[in-house]
Amino acid sequence: SLIASDTQRIVVGLGVTGLSCARFLAKNGMSFSVADNREIPPGLDQFRQEFPDVTLSLGPFQAGQFDAADELYISPGISLREPVIASAIQAGVKISGDLDLFVQSARAPLVAITGSNGKSTVTTLLGAMAEEAGLKVAIGGNLGTPMLDLLSDDSELYVLELSSFQLERCAGVNAEVATVLNVSEDHLDHHGSLLAYHQAKHRIFRGCRQALINRDDMLTHPLVPDSVRQWSFGLQAPGREAFGLRDEAGAVWLCFGDEKLIAADEIHLAGRHNLANALAALALGKAAGLEMASMLSALRKFKGLPHRCQHVADVDGVAYYNDSKGTNVGAAVASLRGLGDRFQVVLLAGGQAKGADLEPLVETLQEVGRAAVFFGESAPVLSEYLGEGLPSQCVSGMDEAVLAASRFAQSGDAVLLSPACASFDMFRNYEHRGECFVDAVGRLAQGRLQ
Ligand code: ADP
Repeated sequence: SLIASDTQRIVVGLGVTGLSCARFLAKNGMSFSVADNREIPPGLDQFRQEFPDVTLSLGPFQAGQFDAADELYISPGISLREPVIASAIQAGVKISGDLDLFVQSARAPLVAITGSNGKSTVTTLLGAMAEEAGLKVAIGGNLGTPMLDLLSDDSELYVLELSSFQLERCAGVNAEVATVLNVSEDHLDHHGSLLAYHQAKHRIFRGCRQALINRDDMLTHPLVPDSVRQWSFGLQAPGREAFGLRDEAGAVWLCFGDEKLIAADEIHLAGRHNLANALAALALGKAAGLEMASMLSALRKFKGLPHRCQHVADVDGVAYYNDSKGTNVGAAVASLRGLGDRFQVVLLAGGQAKGADLEPLVETLQEVGRAAVFFGESAPVLSEYLGEGLPSQCVSGMDEAVLAASRFAQSGDAVLLSPACASFDMFRNYEHRGECFVDAVGRLAQGRLQ
């Protein structure tokens, strides 16, 4: 009809998500245009190839540019506080993102996962569990394939990692099971406050049928009606119908209520925080109706993701771990504590700080640290915060950092790269940072690091 074709829809922000929105709208016969404030946004060539006839407006946004639109599909990388977006919201334009489009179209149950840390690990592990159970499962979202590209009539289950940015612009998620794994300070530069960040994350519970909470983190507890079935996980012994750890004769077990599911030492993931991730995946899978035996078999096979507390090598009796994805304070604290159960730890940290409170890191270092080596922009601040309590050194590069760490470490210790910061001051990204670490450890093992 005339009205439908007159509807002005704009995809704001190209890149992977923008492209997936464009594909979705085109496939569903909805007209749209695309705007990006960069002259050459990522995915531009691909877009022109796929959509030669779609209007594309590039370069700095003009004041009021979107005020006359009917609906904006805003990429997660663009802030809702961006003046043109704020102005459109004021003008009554409907705001949404890829998640809204997904929710309207998905025909299979959705497990929705967010949190400050551990999202990718839990999403990937749960996906592997569902595959092992023989389900046609589609896994992605904030990690891997954009969610709109996952939509298929064949899917029997969707497992999505969702970021606070995706959630912030979504009206309702309607998940079969939803969880906020944990909440610590991150992206405060974007959201403005911990409250706003928390509120964005908790949108994941809107319309959910079951919710999973983390007993060790009050900030994960949702305000939902009693009709929503609640599950929980935590590192303490669990109550009935809950997931947790139990110590028995010196061995740690992952348990559901009284039932011992699997011994912790059967799992190839380092650190206690990863036991929390495993418990979360088991709980989500149970809520989604997956068979326990398949889940446990997938868990036994799961080797974890690269750059997440990954064991790199043992050199002179010291275990080296790459946790380059530890890009915020909460993450570094978790992996430091996680390894601190078994080791005295030499921590390598630093890079671009994101304005989070460093106190928890300093406290944890005092408890389980052997020494600390700092690099990058935040090195001076970190070493000042750490104070006199612990041996530490500031260095300028990764080789130097690994060499310094090897000198601090004693046999039986661990050396952990978990920077608590973004990598962009010294590296292309966290992967690059992790690779430089792995490379330096390799040369250390061969006696070639100077
Ligand atoms: P995300 O996708 O949320 O970034 P990842 O699974 O990629 O999560 O893990 C990122 C980092 O977060 C890890 O390298 C580790 O430092 C930390 N981390 C992992 N699991 C947890 C957890 N359960 N609690 C706190 N921090 C964690």
